[in-house]
Amino acid sequence: MEMTLAIIKPDGVARGLSGEIIGRLEREGINIFALKMIWMTKEQAKGFYKVHAGKPFYESVTDFMSSGPCVVMVLEGKEVINAYRKLMGATDYKEAAKGTIRHDYATDIEKNVVHGSDSPQSAAFEIAYFFNELEIFKR
Ligand code: ATP
Ligand code: MG
Repeated sequence: MEMTLAIIKPDGVARGLSGEIIGRLEREGINIFALKMIWMTKEQAKGFYKVHAGKPFYESVTDFMSSGPCVVMVLEGKEVINAYRKLMGATDYKEAAKGTIRHDYATDIEKNVVHGSDSPQSAAFEIAYFFNELEIFKR
């Protein structure tokens, strides 16, 4: 079993898509091990996306990620990192496969509704960035 960090980004929360996105996870049989709403400062958003420091979109995406509340979740399941990335669809919603969250809801390459870790290493960093051990449900 694997864990991954999922975020419903500020555009998704503001547009009232949280229930729909959580429903999709539940229908896919993905377990939610932790869930809360947060509002990152610019500095916290920069720390979260530090792998992208120096890229042309870094300033803009960290402004966006700190522009309003997000829902952050720890998901668990068999190969959940890739399974959830598949559910999200491509970064650019124009390239996202039909039926994916980004295909169905994203409006912009930046405002693309959801985030998901892309490797076990990034999942470990990102989960620890938002959650302490007590907050992660364990059966
Ligand atoms: P995420 O990490 O949010 O799950 P991703 O792994 O599909 O998305 P990354 O390459 O990690 O894509 O980019 C992180 C985020 O930065 C993207 O989700 C998007 O919000 C923003 N972003 C990426 N590329 C661009 C770009 N070319 N222009 C504007 N924003 C971008
Ligand atoms: Mg990424």
